[in-house]
Parts: sequence; C-alpha cells; structure tokens
Amino acid sequence: MRTSWSRHPALIAVASLAVLTGCSSSSDSGSDSGTSQDAASSSAVPVVASTNVYGDIAKEIGAGRVKVTSIVSDPSQDPHSYEANTRNQLALSKAKVVIENGGGYDDFVDRMLKGGNNASPEVINAVKTSGRTAPEGEELNEHVWYDFPSVAKLADRIAAGLAKADPDHASTFTKNAKAFKAKLKPLEAKERQIKSDHEGEAVAITEPVPLYLTEASGLENKTPEAFSEAIEEGDDVSPKTLQSTLALFSGKKVKALVYNEQTTGPQTKKVEGAAKKAGIPVVSVTETLPEGKGYIAWMTANVDALASALDQ
Ligand SMILES: [Zn+2]
Repeated sequence: MRTSWSRHPALIAVASLAVLTGCSSSSDSGSDSGTSQDAASSSAVPVVASTNVYGDIAKEIGAGRVKVTSIVSDPSQDPHSYEANTRNQLALSKAKVVIENGGGYDDFVDRMLKGGNNASPEVINAVKTSGRTAPEGEELNEHVWYDFPSVAKLADRIAAGLAKADPDHASTFTKNAKAFKAKLKPLEAKERQIKSDHEGEAVAITEPVPLYLTEASGLENKTPEAFSEAIEEGDDVSPKTLQSTLALFSGKKVKALVYNEQTTGPQTKKVEGAAKKAGIPVVSVTETLPEGKGYIAWMTANVDALASALDQ
C-alpha cells in the first residue's frame, strides 16, 4: 500500500542492498530456461513479475518456454516499500508478459510501464484477476497470493497471457496451468481441515499478509486493525493500539500469532516477545518466496505451520 520513504531512511539503505541481490537472482531465473541458454532465450517468452511469488508461478506454467525476471526476490526486503531501479525498467521494456499484484501493492510496475517504452506487453494484474474487492467499510486485502481460489484464476490468466505471446505452445501452457491448479487442491483441503478442527478460534497477526489463509481456515483475527495497517504501511503504532495488541497475549485471548517476517520493526518484535512470553505459538510467514522453495512447497509449509500451532 502507500509507503512514505522519507520517513524510513533506514529502509532505503536496506532496499538498495536488496536490489543488488535481487538482480543476481534475476539472472539466475534467466538461466532456468535451460542449459542451452542462448538458444532457449531467443525463443523463450520474456516475463517480468513484480515478486518471485508470481515469477515462480509463471515458471511452473511456462515450463522452459519463459525467461522470468522477478523484481523483488529478497526475503529480507519489504515489497510494500520497494523502489524500482533502471535495471528493473530495462527488464520491463523487454517483457512480453508482465505479472503484477495490483491493489496498491506494487505500483512501481505501473509507474515504470507508463514511463517506459514497452508499448504492448500483456499485463496481468493478480488482484483484478481474482475479482476480490474491499469488503464494505474495509480496505481491500491485496495479498491475494495467500488466497488459493485467486491463485487458481491467476494460473489460467497466466496461461492465456503466455499463449498470446507464444501461440504455438498454448496447449502446453493450458496443460501446465491445469497441473498447477491440481496442486492447489490439497492446500484448500488442509484449510478445510483446520476449519473443521478449529473454527472460530482467535489468532493475531502483525500485518495482513496471511488473512486470506486464516479466514479460509475459519479463524478469527483479533488484532486491532490500527495495528496491522500501521505495520503494513510502515507507520508507527500508537501506544494505546500497541497496548491493546499486547493484551491479546498476556490475556491469552488468541491461540497463535501469525508473524510477517518481512515487515518487522521494534513494535512487531514487542508483539512477538509478548506471544513467546505467554507461551503462544508464533507462525512465521513472508511476503515473498523463501530461498529454495517453490510456491506450492512454500504454501504447504505455511498451512502446515498454522495447523500445528493451533493443535498445540
Ligand atoms: Zn503485506
């Protein structure tokens, strides 16, 4: 969502380092196209994804026919406060397919597309594809990659986007999307299992990233909205809001804390400390893919960690 960089000079330094790391990951992604990289890259569809979450899904569906660059791929970096650079701009200028989250999450993609010279990439917006909108009186939760029905829709949309760029392999993309969607089904089954075991139980979060997952699992988020929204925006939490958040743990009002490792600060650390002190399990989640994990393995680990925390 909206981020004010001027108020977070420390984050800028972190982001600059992360950009360097991100670039090396990007070239790694390129070499995934195969050992005969030159031959492959000449025919592979250039895809740019705002984060490695969407980059990984594109690789699954493109299977060897895509050359994917993920703009944000450093697990220590908060994508909410990412500042794009010229290297990202260059990758975007060559992209045939662009995958962005939308919903205010990665506005840098639209800004660069507007300012760049790539006239006709196929732009895929995960939030728009999901059909998710803000519930009445609330803000849209833009973290739709934690929402498996939304991800299934996105898989089809990516297959269609790749087919436009490479019509000869349209049926391969469709087949791969179908196989990918089949792997989402066990994740939804796990959510239903949590729901049947723990429906109505209360949890706390630090930031809204896991909310589609906790909602589909039948759990109730007790965190004051002012807390999780401030953390998402990179703002300070008022002392009163912090106190009422901490009271969830000291009063044992929640069964687990779902902790976003990618949007941390002194106030989330206090919350984590309070949970640990009260013996309440902490489930770590992230915005982007952890190193060495694909989307399905990552989400399986997330859902399993949530289930075992609640079973404690
Ligand atoms: Zn977030």
